[in-house]
Amino acid sequence: MKVVLNLSGINFHFLLYFISVFTLPKIISELKIFFLLLFSFCFFGSPAQKSSVVPDKPKLVVGIVVDQMRYDFLYRYESKYSEGGFKRLMNQGTNCKNVQYNYFPTYTGPGHACIYTGSVPAINGIVSNDWYDRTTGTMVYVTSDNNYKTIGAEDLSGNMSPQKMLTTTVTDQLRLSNNFKSKVIGISLKDRGAILPAGHSANAAYWLDGQSGNWVTSSYYMNDLPLWVKNVNAQQLAKKNLSQPWETLLPIEQYTESTSDSNSYESVLPSDKKTTFPHRLSDSTWVKFDLVKYTPFGNTMLKDFAKEAIQSENLGKSSVTDFITISFSATDYVGHTFGPNSIESEDTYLRLDKDLSDLFSFLDSWLGKNNYLIFLTADHGVSPVPAFASEHKIPAGVIYESALLDSMKKILNSVYGDTGLILSYSNQQLYLNHDLMRTKKITTTDVLAQLIPFLNTQKGIYDEFDISKLNETTIPASIKNILGNSFNPKRSGDIMLLYEPYWFGGFRERGTTHGAVYSYDTHVPLLWYGWKVKSGDDNSLHHITDISPTISNLLNIQEPNGSIGEVIELTK
Ligand code: ZN
Ligand code: ZN
Repeated sequence: MKVVLNLSGINFHFLLYFISVFTLPKIISELKIFFLLLFSFCFFGSPAQKSSVVPDKPKLVVGIVVDQMRYDFLYRYESKYSEGGFKRLMNQGTNCKNVQYNYFPTYTGPGHACIYTGSVPAINGIVSNDWYDRTTGTMVYVTSDNNYKTIGAEDLSGNMSPQKMLTTTVTDQLRLSNNFKSKVIGISLKDRGAILPAGHSANAAYWLDGQSGNWVTSSYYMNDLPLWVKNVNAQQLAKKNLSQPWETLLPIEQYTESTSDSNSYESVLPSDKKTTFPHRLSDSTWVKFDLVKYTPFGNTMLKDFAKEAIQSENLGKSSVTDFITISFSATDYVGHTFGPNSIESEDTYLRLDKDLSDLFSFLDSWLGKNNYLIFLTADHGVSPVPAFASEHKIPAGVIYESALLDSMKKILNSVYGDTGLILSYSNQQLYLNHDLMRTKKITTTDVLAQLIPFLNTQKGIYDEFDISKLNETTIPASIKNILGNSFNPKRSGDIMLLYEPYWFGGFRERGTTHGAVYSYDTHVPLLWYGWKVKSGDDNSLHHITDISPTISNLLNIQEPNGSIGEVIELTK
């Protein structure tokens, strides 16, 4: 055997040595073994060779969205990340370092819709998480749909569907490409983070119901949960995760990238009385299990659920490409509550990095390194907490929108004798009462002219304009382009109020949010890894709308029907 092993390493010195030592029959017997092994090597390949064969198409596409992950978080915590998580993708895959959102508002619903449709609110119709619906005169939620009911819990959290999304997703196109043979499953802690990426024709979408702590779905997809989901639910993992306090992963003094744990601008969890670690998680006054979404343990639950889904649904094991979309939302809940400069945020990213490392190792063993394709991005970035920015002399602030709306109504009432001209102020847009305007012979220009003197005195408001006359405004062309992608005639308002950078609408001084047209909300990570993806950095400008056409190009399928993106070069 020693001769054979040395031969396969082409070590002829050892061969000569063995010939001189062994008798001829012995050599013949050893050579027999050698040729036998050579034969099996050529026909069946070694384990190492098997994983180096790259198939024509990936067996599984894994789309990962990290909710609220700003681009710089890749680097701010880099020294503390493991080699197997974010850094595995950064170092071994393609790191697109200049990827920007190209519409407004940068929220979760539009973000997930855009990533997977390659399209923008003007065309895919996902103009926000909630918007004013002129036909019913009410606010509507992006995925609510009372034609369907919850499967997996006794509440309304599953009355959902992707039907308000007007265009196809790349996941739809994959299903269309092979007569619906590919399996597509979407999962997230948030309903919209699971439903929109999976598309209209998905096999399933699952999200976490705060009332029951169960993974649930909608009757849009099925009428009963699969056994494997029921088995996961029976473990009551949300309850278990909330039974212990949230402590930092590392000793707290090592979180030198973040601000002090004790400050006046972080929010307090409903189970806790303070902003500092350790955070008490039991006895929440909220909807029972929603709190787990506000901790890194929600992300770990999601990662484990993803692994279970891949195994139980046998994803990546058929002759066609399957697709799983995974959206990690705890980063967003934690980010809103404590802000992006908090130890809580840093701890959530360090723990997510460990979860990613575990997920990637699992994919290696389940499918083999070259058989899956991963992309990782975010649905938007985030603003610093305004009070934190102000503490460091950086301009920022909160616009109290309900007070602003009251003032605008009063002004219009004093001029036109009617308080009903504004139907809604949402997503920084005024929805005007068109019937009343016709009766009173008032135009949008008239309304705007009455409001401008007041708005010009308001802190944090940069500009205001008639949405139908976007091209007549004096705002920079790049922002005009973003806004042109944003307005859907049936779902958007009449007048837009644009805020200054680091200013956002709110109702209190603690915590933070996102939604703006500026870099802190638009610049997100985009990492590609696996299958035929080359390694290296890509510094060119790409838009978030480029992800779906790029995947379509790699899979040789038609891009989504509302796609406006371009293909990013990823293979050698
Ligand atoms: Zn989000
Ligand atoms: Zn958010």
